[in-house]
Order: sequence, then C-alpha cells, then structure tokens
Amino acid sequence: LCICNGWKIKILTLWRTEIMAEIELQNIAHSYNPQAVDKTYALDPFNMTWIDGGRYAILGPSGCGKTTMLNIMSGIVQPSEGKLLFDGVDVTTLSTSERNIAQVFQFPVIYGTMTVEQNLAFPLVCRNYEKFVIDAKVQEVAEALSLQGLLKKSASRLTADQKQLISLGRGLVRDDVAAVLMDEPLTVIDPDLKFRLRRQLKEINQKYRSTLIYVTHDQNEAMTFAENIIVMDAGKIVQVGSPAELFDRPKTTFVGYFIGAPAMNFFNCQAVGGYKLSIGSAEIMTGTDLSKAGSAPLKLGIRSEYIRIVEAKGANTFTAQVQRVEDLGNYKLMTAVFDGYVMKVKVERDITVPAERVELLLPAENCCVYAADVLVS
Ligand code: ATP
Repeated sequence: LCICNGWKIKILTLWRTEIMAEIELQNIAHSYNPQAVDKTYALDPFNMTWIDGGRYAILGPSGCGKTTMLNIMSGIVQPSEGKLLFDGVDVTTLSTSERNIAQVFQFPVIYGTMTVEQNLAFPLVCRNYEKFVIDAKVQEVAEALSLQGLLKKSASRLTADQKQLISLGRGLVRDDVAAVLMDEPLTVIDPDLKFRLRRQLKEINQKYRSTLIYVTHDQNEAMTFAENIIVMDAGKIVQVGSPAELFDRPKTTFVGYFIGAPAMNFFNCQAVGGYKLSIGSAEIMTGTDLSKAGSAPLKLGIRSEYIRIVEAKGANTFTAQVQRVEDLGNYKLMTAVFDGYVMKVKVERDITVPAERVELLLPAENCCVYAADVLVS
C-alpha cells in the first residue's frame, strides 16, 4: 500500500462498487398503532426495489409517509409488515448500525467539540480504517463539498449551512454504506448554495455510483436531483418515474396537480368514440383508445406548456376568451376560458397574445385521458 494517493483512491472506489446494495422492500407496510381495532396505515402495503447506484427522490405532501419509508430502510422504524432485503439478505430485524446505512437529517447533527476534519473522519475512525485511507477520504469529501478551508476549524463555530455540509460529508465519507438516505437535508441551506449542493450530490452519485435517496416535498428539488422519483400521497406510492415521465404522463390526476407549475389543466369530458372526446362544444382527438376507459367519469389532462396559440382554426382547435395574461419574466401565463372551462397556457414571452379571443390547439400526443382520476393507457 506504499503507493501514491491517486492509486489509494482508486482502490477505495472499486471497493465501494462491491459494497453498495440493491435494496428491496417486499410487501412493506407500517402502522404506528398496529394493535388498535381501527388501525390506520402510515404506509400502505407496497413493493419497491432501489437499484444499486440509483439517485432517487421520495416526493409528496406533508404527512404522506416519506420519512416513515426512509426510517424503515435505515432501521429507525421497524415495519409492522413485510421484509427488507439488502442484496437478497433479509435485514428487517437488524439494527441501524448493522445495516450500513448513512442517514442525513433535516437539521445538522455534528460533534461540536471536534474540528470539521475530525467530524468528517469520525465514521471511519469508529470503523478502524487506516489513517491514510481516512486522510484521503476526508480530503476527497471536503473537496466535493468545498470544505477544505474549514477543516481545522471547530465545528461548533460554523453557520447552520456549514454544519449541514458536515452532516452530508459524514454520510458520504464511508465506502461501505448500502445507501445514503437524506431527509430534507437542504432545508437549512440558503437557496444559492442549495442549487450548487444538489449539483454536487448528482456529481458524487455519477462519479461513485453511490445509492442516494432524498426525501423532499419540493417538486423542484426532486425534479432537478433525481433520476427516479417516487411520488407518494396519503401513505401510498402513486407513481415511480423519471422527471420527464411524471411531467408528460402523470398516472393519476393527483400527480398531474402535484407536479408542474402551474398544475396540469384538467377538463371533464365525454368519449365520442375511437380516440375522440368532447369538451363542451369542441371535439378533440387524443392518442388514447377510449374503448379502454370503461364507464367511469373522464377527464382530459394537458400541460399548460403544450397548449399552443395558433392563427387559424383546424383539427383539435377551439376559440377561447382571454381572461388575463401575467408576465412572469421568462414566459407569460395566459388564463383563457372556453365554454366555461378555465385553462392556463404558457406562452413564450415574444409572442403577442390577442386581447380578447384566441385560437388554441391541443396536440393529440400531449392529451392524457383519465378515467376515475387514473390515466387510461
Ligand atoms: P413530513 O413531510 O411532514 O415530514 P412525511 O411525508 O415524512 O411528512 P411521516 O412523517 O412519515 O410523513 O408521517 C406519516 C404519517 O404517520 C403521518 O400521519 C404522521 O402523523 C404519522 N406519524 C409519523 N410518525 C409517527 C409516530 N412516531 N407516531 C404516530 N404517528 C406517526
């Protein structure tokens, strides 16, 4: 091992690849009152596999079960039902320390009596790593999080931002973790630094293929950080997909409302036949075979980004009344009304919006059809 630093780091990187794990949740469910007659689930039964090296966000409104899911993976919460497997090995009853999980919480957890360097080194010192390994890893993580200038400082004298960086660093410094779990870790970080840190976390994931799981209720954070987003609502996973899939093909109207700003437009509609439906007096061709929709009430969903202002009437167009236009700097947001249906349309800023009446096109490929609030596919 008397070799240059670069080689030592290479050895660590290879080792990391072998230790990361695929995490499988099998029929996991959790109730905080399992003995009660009217027991309620904080997490409804579900199955989920987290691929080794993936970058995930768990996204949903307050109280939907995000933290419960994370705490089940780390071992802080013992699930009332189901099994948790790391690379096929059942770890459901193992303690947090036996699972080799690193967890970063919403507020910084640091050792105030230690320096920044000692804080970062601590998880490795506890596991009896060689000093040269510890030094190399601390330098590497300090560089990734721009903490080099603070290494000799006492941790207690840092700002909340800096303290949270140390918490993150302690999560990232170990090679032997199955995953790094982060519960709203950037809440105390200022917006500029937040943006930079999310990018750095992405780079760390791409460089080392460490599995990162990030809990947030902020869709922008989830969309800019994750390859895959798990959207939750009231204890249920409602969709797992890439940011593009969640944006273009929300599986439920809840996801359409929750993702995107403004929310997806939804209009009550009726099937005409084949792929065609009617909204008020307009007939719209969609990309959906409506014979699969059954008899449940239908809604047409379309993003404000995909409705277009056109010059002339044609297929899938209708004339709407312009209600208002808001200038939001990099685009305009038009509110228009057609036969009592109110819709939001994002318009490029150099396009002039007519004052009263506007011809709108709903491209068939961007129309999503929902039966009883579930996407007809
Ligand atoms: P937030 O974004 O507000 O942190 P969350 O999506 O992480 O919310 P959880 O904290 O997992 O949601 O909570 C899910 C449900 O379980 C909520 O109804 C919550 O009140 C309940 N709950 C959470 N922890 C406990 C507990 N220790 N005892 C009883 N109920 C709990």
